[in-house]
Amino acid sequence: METCWGASFFGVLGREWQQSSQRNCYKEYLNMLWRDTAVFWYNKSRKKRRNRLMDYGYLMEEAMKARKMAYAPYSQFQVGAALLCTDGSVYTGCNVENASYGAANCAERTAFFKAVSEGKRSFRAIAVAGGKKDAVDLEPCPPCGICRQVMEEFCSPDFVIVLGKNEADYQMYTLREIFPLPFGE
Ligand SMILES: [Zn+2]
Repeated sequence: METCWGASFFGVLGREWQQSSQRNCYKEYLNMLWRDTAVFWYNKSRKKRRNRLMDYGYLMEEAMKARKMAYAPYSQFQVGAALLCTDGSVYTGCNVENASYGAANCAERTAFFKAVSEGKRSFRAIAVAGGKKDAVDLEPCPPCGICRQVMEEFCSPDFVIVLGKNEADYQMYTLREIFPLPFGE
């Protein structure tokens, strides 16, 4: 099988070389090689970017990593979030609690505020991973009402919320599904 592949590879090269040398134009042949190489790498990078924009397992993984940074000495409930922008960049956040309970901030809003403060305004999805500090298995952790309202401020109704136990076990919801009657101007 290996020799077949090898033979066909050199066969193609040989044929192309022959055709171009018949026209006495090796420069054209080299240009063709350069062009093909450039197109190959362009497609490869585009594919990688597209995969990243669609890969919500990857986003869950980032949320789980961010969860390890949670500051939750009062509730012991640790949450991580990973926010995917339409340009492919990802901003993570964790919950940050306070002795004055009302001063606490959720993981989702931490991620949003980080991204917005860096100039981002266009978002595609957010993954949330939450559970008790020593939990072996995480359970889906839906965003609170305030975080849904913050999402509504910056996102379209089809913005995706990814909730799950891990990078292989998750569900997707749209913002309008989990926030059907939003307040807005
Ligand atoms: Zn919240």
